Amino acid sequence: MSKEANRVAVIGAGIIGIAVASCLQRDGHEVLVIDPDEPGRGASFGNAGLFGTSSVVPMSMPGVLRQLPGWLSDPLGPLAVRWTYLPFLAGWLARYVAAGRPERVERQARALRDMLGRAVDTLAPLVAAAGATAIFHRNGSLFVYRSVEDFARDRRAWDLRARHGVAWEALDAAGLTRVEPGLSSNCAHGVLVRSNGHTSDPHALVTHLARHLVAQGVVFHRAAATGFALDGARLRAVRTRQGEIDADAAVVAAGAFSRPLAAELGDRVPLETERGYHIVIRDPEIVPRLPVADQAGKFMATPMAAGLRLAGTVEFAGLGAPPNWQRSRILLRQARALFPALSEHYPEERLSLWMGHRPALPDSLPVIGRSRRSPDVLYAFGHGHVGMASSGMTGMVLADLVAGRPPTIDIAPFRAGRFA
Ligand SMILES: Cc1cc2nc3c(=O)[nH]c(=O)nc-3n(C[C@H](O)[C@H](O)[C@H](O)COP(=O)(O)OP(=O)(O)OC[C@H]3O[C@@H](n4cnc5c(N)ncnc54)[C@H](O)[C@@H]3O)c2cc1C
Repeated sequence: MSKEANRVAVIGAGIIGIAVASCLQRDGHEVLVIDPDEPGRGASFGNAGLFGTSSVVPMSMPGVLRQLPGWLSDPLGPLAVRWTYLPFLAGWLARYVAAGRPERVERQARALRDMLGRAVDTLAPLVAAAGATAIFHRNGSLFVYRSVEDFARDRRAWDLRARHGVAWEALDAAGLTRVEPGLSSNCAHGVLVRSNGHTSDPHALVTHLARHLVAQGVVFHRAAATGFALDGARLRAVRTRQGEIDADAAVVAAGAFSRPLAAELGDRVPLETERGYHIVIRDPEIVPRLPVADQAGKFMATPMAAGLRLAGTVEFAGLGAPPNWQRSRILLRQARALFPALSEHYPEERLSLWMGHRPALPDSLPVIGRSRRSPDVLYAFGHGHVGMASSGMTGMVLADLVAGRPPTIDIAPFRAGRFA
């Protein structure tokens, strides 16, 4: 950046915007955050809370085309499409399938490794500065399979992780129950990843970081950004519904809502939303010690401050469609197969249901870098299934870019123009 960026506007107060704001503030910039909502009310509110150093496997893998019809024909399976939405999704799905080609998977995994390898270590200092270490845990996570054959079918993904520096330990049924005694005896095989971490309250984590920013003098504007006021290529202000906010630089971190802001800057990115759901059981009969990923049901059971959170599934229905709460409830049924001690029925007052919009690009990589039209406007959105885990590294990279320092990782795979 050729002019000194003193006043930096961060658009979006999810985990990504707040981590970026934290790193910019640490660098001594005057930082302001723009969001029409309170911090952490978007996708960052109700996710599974995993800081997955092992999440280097892209969503689209070789063979995805064979699996898609089965997934799509089951409305309560791990992946669902509202049929009325399919015409809007066709182009994205084609790119998604193409992203599953072996050579592309290898490149995407390398980029994800750079982003996620230090997931826990990059966030830890921000969490410590914000006084939130009580909800930040670094004790690993567990992946569970119903049979050794299921694990063998997923072996390609674990080999990919190993090739990209993820250390994992295979566990047999006895090993699994030693780690998590409440698991069903039907869980025949598991994997322990010690380098993973989690938060027991994703929303509180964002709130703590945001409060710390306020204490450091960062100003939060309750407004929706609508565009940018440029003098030639230079940024003068961020436009909002309430008027212009002067800024020398801006970072677009509006999650699944970032697409129109990027389009105004000449970057047409195929940003979709992969809607996900959770259900939280208050005072559950069993709380695992670690987050447990059910590889069959494609959901995560995470020990949270509020109870046991079951979170996951993917639904394509766009930003505006109402939630289908059946998708939350199906998680409960699946979790009983994992933890037999859970009840068959819970009174509604012990349950809370949630739906959130994952911001997703078809190649499972975020968009990070400068906009086409202005070097002063940068992007940090589209983190898909790994926004919590990649927030620390994203914050560091954005701080480097704003300061004009070379980032510590290769950000070429994340450029907005890769879809042109
Ligand atoms: C069910 C589920 C489980 C998940 N589990 C995990 C997990 O275990 N680990 C993990 O790493 N990730 C997980 N994720 C993904 C993770 O939640 C997201 O990647 C992450 O929260 C995205 O953060 P974000 O800040 O980009 O977006 P958000 O948290 O959605 O924040 C975007 C913000 O931008 C604001 N905004 C929107 N439009 C504007 C505008 N025009 N102007 C200003 N502000 C605007 C919104 O109000 C919002 O506050 C999960 C997601 C889901 C749905």
